[in-house]
Amino acid sequence: MKIFNTLTRQKEEFVPLEEGKVKMYVCGPTVYNLIHIGNARPMIIFDTVRRYLEYKGYEVNYVSNFTDVDDKIIKKAIEEGVSAEEISQRYIEECKKDMAGMNVKPATTHPQATQEIDGMISMIQTLVDKGYAYAVADGTVYFRVKKFKEYGKLSHKNLDDLQSGFRALQVSGEDQKEDPLDFVLWKPKKEGEPYWTSPWCDGRPGWHIECSVMSKKYLGDEIDIHAGGEDLIFPHHENEIAQSECCNDKIFARYWMHNAFLNIDNRKMSKSLGNFRTVREISEQYDLQVLRFFMLNAHYRSPLNFSADLMESSKNALERITEAAGRLKDRKEKASAVELTEAEKKLLAEAEGYVKKFEEAMEDDFNTADALAAVFELVKFANTNVTEESSAAFAEGILEILVKLCDVLGLVAVKKEEILDKEIEDLIAERQEARKAKNFARADEIRDELLAKGIILKDTREGVKWKRA
Ligand code: AMP
Ligand code: ZN
Repeated sequence: MKIFNTLTRQKEEFVPLEEGKVKMYVCGPTVYNLIHIGNARPMIIFDTVRRYLEYKGYEVNYVSNFTDVDDKIIKKAIEEGVSAEEISQRYIEECKKDMAGMNVKPATTHPQATQEIDGMISMIQTLVDKGYAYAVADGTVYFRVKKFKEYGKLSHKNLDDLQSGFRALQVSGEDQKEDPLDFVLWKPKKEGEPYWTSPWCDGRPGWHIECSVMSKKYLGDEIDIHAGGEDLIFPHHENEIAQSECCNDKIFARYWMHNAFLNIDNRKMSKSLGNFRTVREISEQYDLQVLRFFMLNAHYRSPLNFSADLMESSKNALERITEAAGRLKDRKEKASAVELTEAEKKLLAEAEGYVKKFEEAMEDDFNTADALAAVFELVKFANTNVTEESSAAFAEGILEILVKLCDVLGLVAVKKEEILDKEIEDLIAERQEARKAKNFARADEIRDELLAKGIILKDTREGVKWKRA
């Protein structure tokens, strides 16, 4: 499997640090608003990377943070007259709802910066002790960039070029810094802002230190993949490398993956430009599976322009998949023949060819657009070869392949049948009656029927309780 590594600007063979395991960190959103569809791009892309790694049998430890202390969060809290915590908690919950709608799996861990302040103080202290960081009179702590000889290795920037650029930009108030390149690790509190005590001053961490610390705590000093949008390459990821490698004396991440931007009218979509669409808005018009399809139908390293036309064609294309899956299911249920015929065995083997094509595309730096093309070839194959005369086993075999490939992409080919609360309660009542009548076979049958629909029953002293799995 090849991954394009921003560090080397090459596609490299993926070799994990530990056989069979992948440690992966993806920079998450700053939570002060509903997420926009630009933020959704890395979520969908790296969730698909994770799904493919899991499909290949890797155990993936996937960590993605929420940045819940930031100027923008504080500003919003002041505007609304509530605490910063209330704002961040609210938008973390909303973000999780959007993620579920886009079928983005919850991370193994979703750390929050404000819960990890001790770790940040301790990493900053180590950097100070090792001479990589220094505090100035007002208690601000800076990272001493020039001391880290490899600074610039990710963004391929040259320190001298950076320096001349910075000199021109140097602002007053930052003149306590030893060098214009140095960046903040800890900063003093301002009136009305959340703060924590530290050896240097009451204050709060800089943004970059958060990710170095959360990655270290949940994944260790060395990780396999670190990912995020391409705007994070510099300075965020460059600074993360500097902090982590100087603190831990280990290579921080082996593979750096970055998605290109989602644009609108060929301009970057961003909160500050105000030209964004939220995922929530899109969900009012489309199933969010359509948004996921739209993202996967382009290469993650190419800019993608959002348009109503592309969303419409994504919707139609996705329907071709779900309709084919629906037909296969129907054929399976209504087939009169059960067993595979010899001819069907051959066709099933032929269908495996599309799996191979799909895998080849994914192995080549996650070319999801080509992987989708393989799925459509399979759809076409299914539409021509699975007929009313086909056996149940054949329809089922093809359906299984289709569902499996869609699942790697996080696309739901066959929706689980929805069961309403009322139906569940009626069945529970029927089960109770059956038990009273000592018809345990029927009672068990109802329990299994509900379980198949994702409903778990629990018999308690207060009666039967149920929940959706
Ligand atoms: P932020 O909340 O701005 O820190 O962004 C969270 C994640 O979304 C980061 O990985 C960003 O790089 C990414 N991101 C933000 N805007 C876009 C966009 N228009 N297209 C693609 N990725 C984006
Ligand atoms: Zn980060």
